[in-house]
Parts: sequence; structure tokens; C-alpha cells
Amino acid sequence: MLSDENLLLRGFLVCPECGRNLTGSASKGRTNRYYYYHCVSSCGFRQKAELANDIFEKSMRQFALNGSAQIVKRLLLDNYKKFVKNPFGEKKQIAQEIDKLNARLSVACNKLLSEIIDDEEYLEIKDECKTRIESLEEQLSKDGSDTDKINIDKSLDRALKYIENIPKMYSEGEINTRRSIIGSIFPEKLEFDGKTYRTARMNVIANYIFQINNGLPQNKNRTNENQFHLSCLVAETGIEPVTSGL
Ligand SMILES: [Zn+2]
Repeated sequence: MLSDENLLLRGFLVCPECGRNLTGSASKGRTNRYYYYHCVSSCGFRQKAELANDIFEKSMRQFALNGSAQIVKRLLLDNYKKFVKNPFGEKKQIAQEIDKLNARLSVACNKLLSEIIDDEEYLEIKDECKTRIESLEEQLSKDGSDTDKINIDKSLDRALKYIENIPKMYSEGEINTRRSIIGSIFPEKLEFDGKTYRTARMNVIANYIFQINNGLPQNKNRTNENQFHLSCLVAETGIEPVTSGL
């Protein structure tokens, strides 16, 4: 019964009253079975599973790309450049180091000419600098960063193509597919209070899509960063963007 479609969110939910996990079970009525998510502790919190599942499915529509794939891709690339790799900064640093070595070499040359150092000392310095400069120049010409960028580009295209189908895959998929989608978007537990889902953290790509779809500023220091209100009302009307008003 662990993979019961009626209790598909079991294991992803946390109690809004006491913070402990919710589990799910069925209770038998006279004619029907009724499914609930309920707290594992004695706090007494419970919600009808059908309602919770329904609102969650509607909330998933907020992850539809709606043609904004290119915006999301640009944001991700910017992010990547900023935090993971800065090829331009790296090249600049190498060039500066080469300049320093050349300066050192010319100082040594002057010292040789003013007979402060002898030939042997000069040649030693010269060899050392030349070897270092050659290896740095090789690094500069390798241009590995461009290859990386192409790979990142392709990976992002692939990822976005997959993500594009998530809302559809969620509503049409089997329980295992649905559960793995939930797990990949929400690395932390979700809190459901009967109307709205909240979570502390979201997959970074899903987060961008969510923000774009809700008209939130991408500059995250303007909003209450880590609280996401996956309200079904927003998903249904689709015209209730939580604008910053700033
Ligand atoms: Zn509880």
C-alpha cells in the first residue's frame, strides 16, 4: 500500500502544527474509503488527501515553462558564470602573472648590466621565468573555458527540454514518476495547511520558473527568500502575480 495513488504525497509532507512528519491512511466509511494525511504525533492534525493531492497538482502547473525557457537558460548561465566559473577573470589573472614575470626578468637584466648580479645568476632567473611564462601562455591559449561553455549550453538545453514536460508528466504519470518529480523539485519537506503549500527550498531551475511565472523579481533579496507559497489560487487564476510593488 506504500505506493497508493490516493496517498501519493506520503513522505513529502510535514505537519504545520508541530513540525513532525505526516503519514497517510484510509478510513472506512459506510460506502467509501476516505484517505487522510495525518500527523505521526498526537497533535491531531489531519487533512483530506484528495484535497491535498488536488491542490498540489494544480500548484505543479506553476512550473510550466510557458515559453520562458530562454529566460531561464540565461539566468542559469549568468549564475553559472558568477559562481562556478569565471573564465574571463581567470584569463585576466594569468595575463597579470605573465606581466609580473616579464617585469622580474627585465629587473634581472638591468642588474646584470649594472653588474649587481653575474651571468650565472641572471641565467638562472631567466630560465625560471621563461619556463613559468611558457606554461602560463599555454594555459591561456588552451581556451578550455569555451569548450566548457558549449557543454553547459547543451546540458541546459537538455535539462530545460525535460523540465518543459514536467507539469504534463506529473498529471499523466504513474505514481513512481510523480513521486520522483516531487522529490527532484522539492529537496525538503512540504507543509500543507489546507490551502497552501510551503517549502523552505526548491530545485534551482524550478525556482527560476516559479519566480518568472509569478512575476517575482529575480533579484532574490527583495522577497522573503525561502518561503514559497504554492497557492492553488495563484495557479488557477494565473493573474495574481505577487509583484514586489517596489
Ligand atoms: Zn503535528
